[in-house]
Amino acid sequence: MSTQQKHNFGAGPCILPISVMEKAASSVINWDGSGLSILEVSHRSAEFEEVVAKTQLLVRELLSVPEDYEVLFLQGGASTQFSMVPQNLLQASGNKKGAYLDTGYFAQKAIEQARHFGEVQIVASSREKGYNYIPDNYSLHHDAAYLHLTSNNTIEGTEIFEFRNFGVPLVCDMSSDIFSREIKVSDFDLIYAGAQKNMGPAGMTLVIIKKTLLTKIKYPLPAMYDYRTYAANNSMYNTPPVFSIYVSMLNLLWLKDQGGVSAIEKQNIKKAELLYEAIDKSEIFYGTADGGHRSRMNVTFQCRDKKHENGFLNYAQERGIVGTKGYRSVGGFRASLYNALPLFSVEFLVKTMAYYEKMQEMKNANQSQKIGA
Ligand SMILES: *Cc1c(COP(=O)(O)O)cnc(C)c1O
Repeated sequence: MSTQQKHNFGAGPCILPISVMEKAASSVINWDGSGLSILEVSHRSAEFEEVVAKTQLLVRELLSVPEDYEVLFLQGGASTQFSMVPQNLLQASGNKKGAYLDTGYFAQKAIEQARHFGEVQIVASSREKGYNYIPDNYSLHHDAAYLHLTSNNTIEGTEIFEFRNFGVPLVCDMSSDIFSREIKVSDFDLIYAGAQKNMGPAGMTLVIIKKTLLTKIKYPLPAMYDYRTYAANNSMYNTPPVFSIYVSMLNLLWLKDQGGVSAIEKQNIKKAELLYEAIDKSEIFYGTADGGHRSRMNVTFQCRDKKHENGFLNYAQERGIVGTKGYRSVGGFRASLYNALPLFSVEFLVKTMAYYEKMQEMKNANQSQKIGA
């Protein structure tokens, strides 16, 4: 392994395949023998327009995006979508409300931003239980402009596996599980995702929006905050995030080579099962998310005795395992198992957990022997 020596379980920006990074690195110097760096090519050149077209096509192929949806590349991260969604869909919806399912930290942030543009209805929340599950027993006000969901809660480690139809536009933040499993795009009206968790490097945001939803935006908006601008200009109204789109294209090509989303989903299930099984068997660690809602992308766990928290993090780090510290507000551990993380990294983590546990047992046995003597 020349490019990488670490097992990267970081939550984002994510691990990318080595082959993708090597190709990206060589294109920074000389892009496909053009004598130019990918960093200095005109975004209006035919060559780069082809990159955009190819990336859009790969998104369409890999997710089976129907013809009546636009595939757009924006900037500003998923966080900008927290306000763009209500700005485009709520602000001029009359007296309608933005309906939100409160499943965690990022859902909360989306709710906060929506309040700038209209009234918000929180249809259900798992806050009182530390967001360790996905509420599914809720109904919508008849005057909801849309329902907003977060399909995978990156910090809390929960994931939605079933999407119900409420007869209103369904908007979903899929930042941390897009391309990790098969979805039916037609179940949704707007999907958005920051690229840096499964699609590519930071800097680009993917938006998949139903064309009929665009026609419902009837009022003028600042150009950069208006979905119609991106649809009308093929995501090239201004300079797009050239490098991020390019590397995303490479990464999606890699995904296609792996057999596409259905093949990677099988791998992802295998990886998650292996780790959850180890956590459930452990005397030291326990999983924090509720059984049926456990995320396959971000596995959150804690230790029963807090003294092991730094102990295990240091032990893992010494063995080349990085990125397993839980989010600052949650603590404990989080292992992110994004598409490019190989199965052997998960096997290595599981072994490391078992070694650590064995070491503790031996220490305890030693101590009780001393006490006994
Ligand atoms: C990381 C993340 C975000 C924030 O993304 P940015 O691109 O950093 O703005 C939003 N939602 C979810 C689910 C995330 O995982």
